Amino acid sequence: MNTNYTSTRDNSVHLSAKQAIKKGFADDKGLFVYPELGQNQLNLNEILKLNYHDIAKTVLAKLLPDFSKEEIDESVEQAYRNSFDSDKITPVVDVDNFHVLELFHGPTSAFKDVGLQLLPQLMKHVLTDDNKVMILTATSGDTGKAALEGFKDLPNMGITVFYPDGGVSKIQKLQMTTTGGSNTRVAAIRGNFDDAQTNVKLIFNDQKLKDQLGDKVSLSSANSINIGRLIPQVVYYFDAYKQLVNNGAIKAGDKVNFTVPTGNFGDVLAGYYAKLLGLPVNKFVVASNENNVLANFFETGVYDRNRPFFQTVAPSMDIQISSNFERLLYYKSGEDTAYIKQLMDDLEDSGKYRVSKDVLKAIQKDFYCGYSTDDEIEAAIRDVYNQNGYLMDPHTAAGYKVMRDYQKLDDTPMILLSTASPYKFVKAVATAVLPEEADSDNVLQTMKDLSTKTKTAIPDNLAKVWELPVRHETVIDKSDMESYVKAQVEEVFYDKDQSSSH
Ligand SMILES: *Cc1c(COP(=O)(O)O)cnc(C)c1O
Repeated sequence: MNTNYTSTRDNSVHLSAKQAIKKGFADDKGLFVYPELGQNQLNLNEILKLNYHDIAKTVLAKLLPDFSKEEIDESVEQAYRNSFDSDKITPVVDVDNFHVLELFHGPTSAFKDVGLQLLPQLMKHVLTDDNKVMILTATSGDTGKAALEGFKDLPNMGITVFYPDGGVSKIQKLQMTTTGGSNTRVAAIRGNFDDAQTNVKLIFNDQKLKDQLGDKVSLSSANSINIGRLIPQVVYYFDAYKQLVNNGAIKAGDKVNFTVPTGNFGDVLAGYYAKLLGLPVNKFVVASNENNVLANFFETGVYDRNRPFFQTVAPSMDIQISSNFERLLYYKSGEDTAYIKQLMDDLEDSGKYRVSKDVLKAIQKDFYCGYSTDDEIEAAIRDVYNQNGYLMDPHTAAGYKVMRDYQKLDDTPMILLSTASPYKFVKAVATAVLPEEADSDNVLQTMKDLSTKTKTAIPDNLAKVWELPVRHETVIDKSDMESYVKAQVEEVFYDKDQSSSH
């Protein structure tokens, strides 16, 4: 068996891509990584001739070597056959002297669809015989719905999503609570996102529960720590480059820059993987919001999460521990797992760590980092709409502001990743673009006003969600999450007690 993967914190760990996808993260709490990444690269000229699906198959064959060709082909076809409203899957749009890579054409209008349409298809080939997996996800909004859609009605898989009661937007809540399917479960938690996240981690690590679930049922995660969600994101970096070559903006072999609005560092890390695999990239411009832990790190080499937490207009980037940054540290330290373990122990003990000068320099060679305040985000949405007629969501706008700062230093062709439809975060967008302050109580009306004013279409899933019946109304105490999970495992996999509400 191909055991290409190891843990960022212990290089004596060896497992296959399938095992890594099934487990989610390592027992030592490290993340699974591919040590030889970059030692044999993809053929760029071949890739430039392929469509999105075939680029996906090429990238996956390289990074998931224990999957058969048939398994990869079938997974990619199932994932992207008709779930996206663009046949390019992730189209590039030209705006001024930069290009926007639109990642929001999937079923829930956020970029997480790209990974979460494919992860469940891969998971299918990981489960053997009558093995079953229950996916547990704590969400602050976007991941929950994208995961529900990806896993909906797949055999031997169930999905349970926890969100903070009152802690997600009206539209995000509706998206989740109206989800169909017989294996989907959604519960609001009396508590905040951290409570939901902390308890999900406790459930994952609960040996007693594992024993009760037995050999047949395992728990796994749909977060970007799972390589099965991260690797599909490598694909659109290659595909975007191809689109620029095809429309004559660059020549094959030219370098480009990417700007990426960043939270957990999954999206931009996938770009770095593409670079290691041979994509000609000069710089990755990383954008944070007012939760600017990473921007400070780039100046000082100290990652320090001891700071106030801000709720911003770009909530999917409201994060203080960028989990996937650990993977970058692994590669940039020369794959020194003992060193990474030390840093992560420091982070757990004191909330901070300091990297060596060499590691910081190695990171700065490939990455630039800045941040955007809420006011700057709003101004960016307004300016780009007024000057270029292009409507951005607040996360994309955070990227735009940092991109403009960086473009003063470097005029390499630039691709800005757009991570959500403006209609998914309609309040902030309406505030920036519509003449009157948006009426927060009538989100649907605000969407219609925005559509009329900007002559852009409301994505189908966001227009229709208002008419769907609410199917998931459960609200529970955080202390009841574990018993809730147990009950859902019984219901979904053993068809017991179908009378309970969900
Ligand atoms: C999740 C998310 C991000 C952050 O992506 P990471 O991979 O966590 O860095 C940015 N924008 C939107 C809209 C998101 O949903």
